[in-house]
Amino acid sequence: MATDAPVKTLQDAIRFFTDPDVCLNAAIQIRWQGGPVACPTCGSIDVHFIASRRIWRCSEQHPRRQFSVKVGTIMEDSPIGLDKWMVAIWLLANARNGISSYELARSIGVTQKTGWFLLHRIRLAMQSGTFAKLSGHVEVDETYIGGKARNMHKGKRARVIHGTGGMGKVAVQGLLARHGKDGHSIVRASVVPNVRKTALQANVRQHVRRGAHVYTDELLSYDGLQSDYVHQVINHAECYVDGQVHTNGMENFWSLLKRAIKGTYVSIEPFHLFRYLDEECFRFNNRKMTDAERFAHAAAAIVGKRLTYKSLTGNDVSQSHQN
Ligand SMILES: [Zn+2]
Repeated sequence: MATDAPVKTLQDAIRFFTDPDVCLNAAIQIRWQGGPVACPTCGSIDVHFIASRRIWRCSEQHPRRQFSVKVGTIMEDSPIGLDKWMVAIWLLANARNGISSYELARSIGVTQKTGWFLLHRIRLAMQSGTFAKLSGHVEVDETYIGGKARNMHKGKRARVIHGTGGMGKVAVQGLLARHGKDGHSIVRASVVPNVRKTALQANVRQHVRRGAHVYTDELLSYDGLQSDYVHQVINHAECYVDGQVHTNGMENFWSLLKRAIKGTYVSIEPFHLFRYLDEECFRFNNRKMTDAERFAHAAAAIVGKRLTYKSLTGNDVSQSHQN
């Protein structure tokens, strides 16, 4: 969907995508980014549209000659209609505090389990594909997100619980590059095995360009960053914020994340936590966009990604499908 399409609200989106031809055309735009329809197997544009089935047939000789608009995207193999997919992407991209699988299931008329799988695949699309390092002034902070270890089988608990924050708590490290004169700040958040020096500093070095200004709290794990960065430590004993030396931006992000988890997702399997981090970072990093722009941005990222149910659940049938 072009961002100038007359779609501004969720109601507009639902109405817009209800027409199967309009919906297919929007999906074609997204899938082939405005270019010609090309065979996902061989790349040929010598393809024939079978209107009655809304699929194409490639003229080249090879297996899998027939394909739909879903092939080669997070929607591949999904029996759920395009209209429901589009509305689901709209909802997750724009819901301020996220959307639970129960809520999505009610909104688009699928089962909760289907809604859960849909949301996780959309979160995959929201995962930042960039390897560009953060630079300038970067706030570094860590927090714990609670799991629900009490109800977990012992074997599984051993697999999913890491970190030193107590039972079922998972350590998360966040990095926030403060905005320059024009733009807005960019955040990245990732699950770390623990808050010891090796883990925390490796993550900083992976994501932050050498020479950047880095602000952390006085955790000893950050001791040593000064060899690669202009490292300044917040002194919490001082009762004022020393100009630039703070992590207020990162703390703001944590409160948004925790509000979504507490209000919408209630509790999250540690195994899946990184997907919720991707979702929250996506909304935060694109917060200046309109809803239609944010939808288009998320939708454009569905191409070339796949997530099977098996890999999502780690082939563990006892895995919870809540949230
Ligand atoms: Zn082909």
